Amino acid sequence: EGQALRFPFDNSYARLPERFRARLDPTPVAAPRLLRLNEALARRLGLDPAALASPEGVAVLAGNRVPEGAEPLAAAYAGHQFGNFVPQLGDGRAILLGEVVAPDGARFDIQLKGSGPTPFSRRGDGRAALGPVLREYLVSEAMAALGVPTTRALAAVTTGEQVYRETALPGAVLTRVASSHIRVGTFAYFAARGDVEGLRALADHAIARHYPDLAGAANPYRALLDGVIARQAALVARWMGIGFIHGVMNTDNTSISGETIDYGPCAFMDAYDPATVFSSIDQFGRYAYGNQPRIMQWNLARLAEALLPLLDEGEEAALASANEALAGFAPAFEGAYLEGLRAKIGLPGGSTGDAAMAGELLKAMAENRADFTLTFRRLCRAVEGDNSARDLFAAPAAFDAWAGTWRARLAEVGGDPAARAAAMRAVNPAVIPRNHLVESALASAHAGDLGPFEALLESTSRPYEDQPGADVPPPGAEEPYLTFCGT
Ligand code: AMP
Ligand code: MG
Ligand code: MG
Repeated sequence: EGQALRFPFDNSYARLPERFRARLDPTPVAAPRLLRLNEALARRLGLDPAALASPEGVAVLAGNRVPEGAEPLAAAYAGHQFGNFVPQLGDGRAILLGEVVAPDGARFDIQLKGSGPTPFSRRGDGRAALGPVLREYLVSEAMAALGVPTTRALAAVTTGEQVYRETALPGAVLTRVASSHIRVGTFAYFAARGDVEGLRALADHAIARHYPDLAGAANPYRALLDGVIARQAALVARWMGIGFIHGVMNTDNTSISGETIDYGPCAFMDAYDPATVFSSIDQFGRYAYGNQPRIMQWNLARLAEALLPLLDEGEEAALASANEALAGFAPAFEGAYLEGLRAKIGLPGGSTGDAAMAGELLKAMAENRADFTLTFRRLCRAVEGDNSARDLFAAPAAFDAWAGTWRARLAEVGGDPAARAAAMRAVNPAVIPRNHLVESALASAHAGDLGPFEALLESTSRPYEDQPGADVPPPGAEEPYLTFCGT
């Protein structure tokens, strides 16, 4: 059985120059216990779920045992936090065990989060608490099921130790899987030091890993910038389309691969309101739902800035190239976002008028505190004559007025209503990880009952299916909901 615990490691990041990271092992914990293993993901990675669930496997997932072929490290990176540049952040409580190459050739980072102090811990303890670990597990897996590019969760273990935040909390370790952990802030780290060779090595590594088709481009570094801009524009458009609020879009939490990364104070919006903010530390609403596209563009400008020494000969030409690349963000985002909206109202590939019509619906939703997820899900049924979407509006007549125009347009376009409803159900989720359900699942987990967590994980793994109890607005939608970063 010990034989089966094999990780197909090939650690390309560990082969980069030493100044990219600190080599160290995770810090062992008192009493590892497996809470949750993602068996399907394990198999996708070419790992044996039974071996991972064995005592040796759990020891690896807790950081108590370093598996054969791992080269554990804490990565160096910088980042803009709420707009302010911090020249050194780095993995303060995470250790990259290594990269596994899955049976299909795809490469994935295997990272332990909450695995003990590192040279980058600053004042932190290097640990994670149970609640935030389960929250990241749940929300990242829900995002994957929704079809949004994201890091994944392979396992959650408890440590048998306490971590001290405002109170003593049970400690836990999350095993995070990502196509890499290279961030905008990783580039900023080298740029801030004037380390152009480091910057070039990082860019070459990122291209080989995430944009291999660009390696032969006339200017591969400009192509890399264009590629990241395109993927992040598409990613934020997906977030906006499902009401996802990341909550802490610092540049160290903006990935080069285009995956959603770092699930801290993230949450899904209930009633539609572009000003929605959940994070307790986001006092000025910098990372509000409606600001996300603008903030992403700002973060990408920081990437462009870091890449300047590689973009062209001479400062002026490099700046011109950076600005040209950045000008691509708004049209790429708008295009993806508006097409997403058209699909949500059953008019994919439609006209600018259709996108404007979707905008009118959003306006009415905002004025009437209509639930974002349910309005669009009920709209799928509305195609076939159901009229329950109106009940979600404080003044239902506001929906009726909009729906009149919409139905006229659907009639004009024509097509089979059942097929349209099915297409709409494939883009408008019925189930998201609702804040109140996440909170009560975490509270139960703290009390020793993982049942609600498992149930929520299961239901959010099938987000585009109607499910009993899902078609009701959340209770107490009036009360402000706060999420916490202090993980
Ligand atoms: P985040 O807000 O999660 O993006 O983290 C920002 C920075 O703080 C990163 O460098 C983290 O590694 C570090 N950090 C967060 N929590 C801790 C902790 N408990 N111990 C050490 N470092 C931490
Ligand atoms: Mg982070
Ligand atoms: Mg975090």
